[in-house]
Amino acid sequence: MKHILPELPFSQDALVPAMSTETIEYHYGKHLQTYIDNLNRMIEGSPYEDMPLEDIVKMATGGIYNNAAQTWNHTFFFQTLTPERSEIPEPLRKALTGTFGSVEAFKDEFTKAAVSLFGSGWVWLAEDPDGKLSVMQEPNAGNPMTKGLKPLLTVDVWEHAYYIDYRNRRAAYVEAWWGLVDWEKVAERL
Ligand code: MN
Repeated sequence: MKHILPELPFSQDALVPAMSTETIEYHYGKHLQTYIDNLNRMIEGSPYEDMPLEDIVKMATGGIYNNAAQTWNHTFFFQTLTPERSEIPEPLRKALTGTFGSVEAFKDEFTKAAVSLFGSGWVWLAEDPDGKLSVMQEPNAGNPMTKGLKPLLTVDVWEHAYYIDYRNRRAAYVEAWWGLVDWEKVAERL
């Protein structure tokens, strides 16, 4: 099965100024495309060749894992962005308040995790099989599915995600990213 670049749910200039057209062109058009090309090349003739992407992420290791997880993570990341301001649906607000005390406390914990993650990686909001929510820092291509958790939300804190627009200011990128989150999509995953 050949993996292909997923469609963006918005036009490439829709997230300006929080995320520039150039960032989308590079991050989506070049970085994500390269992970997909690498994945397709690496799985050819392997047991992963005809496997759905999610199964590869759960089962593979090494380079195949890295490129499969980066493909999955970026697809999920871009699909959770929107140029429309969105409100947090009530069931999600309840779940966040139940775990973190308030939506603000959740955002503080998530932001701290995103700003403090050393090096490249992803910060996730994930749900365990009992419905408990947690914030997770994952280095490199890490993904909560490998630990049996369901991803609800993620932010990419690799430098390529923000260096064109924010240079070294990761905190400014994370703050702008909050304004792009599609809360309806997050809530649908609960
Ligand atoms: Mn990225």
